[in-house]
Amino acid sequence: MHRTHTCGELRLSDLGKTVTLSGWVQKSRDLGGMTFIDVRDRYGVTQLAFNVDDDQTLRAKALDLGREYVIKVTGTVIERSSKNNKIATGEIEIKVSELDILNASALPPFTIEDETDGGDDIRMKFRYLDLRRNPVRENLILRHKMSQEIRRYLDGENFLEVETPVLIKSTPEGARDFVVPSRMNPGEFYALPQSPQTFKQLLMVSGFDRYFQIVKCFRDEDLRADRQPEFTQIDCEMAFVEQEDILNMFEGLTKHLFKTVKGVDLGEVPRMTYDDAMRLYGSDKPDTRFGMQFVELNDVAKGHDFPVFEQAELVIGINAKNCASYTRKQLDALTDFVKRPQIGATGIVYARHNEDGSIKSSVDKFYDATTLDAWSKAFHSEPGDLLLIMAGPTDKVRKQLNELRLEVAGQLGLRDKNTFSPLWVIDFPLLEWDEESARYHAMHHPFTSPKPEDIHLLESNPGDVRANAYDLVINGVEVGGGSIRIHDRDLQSNMFKHLGFSPEEAQKQFGFLMEAFTYGAPPHGGLAFGLDRLVSIFAGLDSIRDVIAFPKNNSGRDVMIDAPSSIAPAQLKELTLEVKA
Ligand code: ASP
Repeated sequence: MHRTHTCGELRLSDLGKTVTLSGWVQKSRDLGGMTFIDVRDRYGVTQLAFNVDDDQTLRAKALDLGREYVIKVTGTVIERSSKNNKIATGEIEIKVSELDILNASALPPFTIEDETDGGDDIRMKFRYLDLRRNPVRENLILRHKMSQEIRRYLDGENFLEVETPVLIKSTPEGARDFVVPSRMNPGEFYALPQSPQTFKQLLMVSGFDRYFQIVKCFRDEDLRADRQPEFTQIDCEMAFVEQEDILNMFEGLTKHLFKTVKGVDLGEVPRMTYDDAMRLYGSDKPDTRFGMQFVELNDVAKGHDFPVFEQAELVIGINAKNCASYTRKQLDALTDFVKRPQIGATGIVYARHNEDGSIKSSVDKFYDATTLDAWSKAFHSEPGDLLLIMAGPTDKVRKQLNELRLEVAGQLGLRDKNTFSPLWVIDFPLLEWDEESARYHAMHHPFTSPKPEDIHLLESNPGDVRANAYDLVINGVEVGGGSIRIHDRDLQSNMFKHLGFSPEEAQKQFGFLMEAFTYGAPPHGGLAFGLDRLVSIFAGLDSIRDVIAFPKNNSGRDVMIDAPSSIAPAQLKELTLEVKA
């Protein structure tokens, strides 16, 4: 028998028991008379004790053990003389009578401790060792718990988990597809799904009514901290529903997860229209853990001959509470921040609301005390506050101010990882103008339904048509999104036309879906959550990498197995692909 207990299990109540444990050597300390070895498994760490009076071969074996050796020990549970209240087994130790080395270990390339000396690259190359570390393992345990609770909730609501294919034809969701050559169909390719979108809609046509799947999706995009080429969605669809039904159902799921996994009562999730989100936060995924809403200033800023404001479409600012004491250096740093090419602003105008009530701005030449008072009123500022103002074309300056708002809030410690502020953003525009291709693109995807009351604008003002589309945002992260779908063949075909598809192209790519709509498609809608992002928020992490067992690096590589890799010429030939010279 390899073990009677795990390494996280024994307590004072087990004193005197003869037990067998198996695990990895975490560390060993030789204190002359005594040798202590910590043995670790998934469940915890238990201290093993050997002393000088022990059988000499046993003692010698213990002294020989290296880090990460796999051992099996048998011994008696005794009370520790110096207790460790930091670990669950800290009141006991095992007086070992038998020690077997099940496998030796090479010296690990980094220390397997909570705080490791291993950098990112080495940890990824030896990910199986990294996964032995508590913080990484705990993230995966959290992920497991969340998946279980998701299934429990959705099963309780009558959702059926259905698997959809991984080798499919591309669905346009805005990203590039990963493609797979077909040996049996020379010159033809499958695409890996960016999401199971069309399949879940077809399941609604089939009458499945409530579908979900915890499913891998693939997008060949440039990577960032919150993106991986393959990621996991909680993909859901419902028939005979309106937007309200979906928001309620998945607000329920979100609350259930927070309650069962984190013990947090989320309360009712507020809603905000896309237009308001852009106006008040300059973002369709506002971080609402703190206020600092935008204040529009055209009324009080224009008409005073300050050229920057005169020429701007929009003058807009935020009130950084209690920041009037910011030094020149801090303000310069904020200006440099917004001038970085990624943000591209020209600068910041600021005004300090001094303790004596006076207001002093960086553009005093143009604004007298009365006008500055009007600024203060617009911002509801109080003595001690700092007003940060930017100007430019409306959409651009809003996005720039959003970056500044997040930066300032970060500096002020307002983005606390243990505070959770969810928000539904609703009423997204249906279409989005794309400069590069000089045409409209679907903002969500081409299957999203326009709001019935806006359909008449499709011809005249396509950019003004709102969609029955919604996102769930938590702490400024988009964790989910979806829409009510089109279920009418003619409307879907009209939509493809507006998106620049010729009737032939639409037929070729989506003929199957439009045909399905002619066989009694019910009204339906759904959404998908990003599981990786949701878990990383629960774990308080900025990156999704550490909630994924075997993630890819920023170049989309798995450095452990060394993928992607070239394939043999014979394999290429079989796939009728060019052999590289
Ligand atoms: N398929 C969509 C996505 O991946 C989600 C949805 O509309 O249900 O974003």
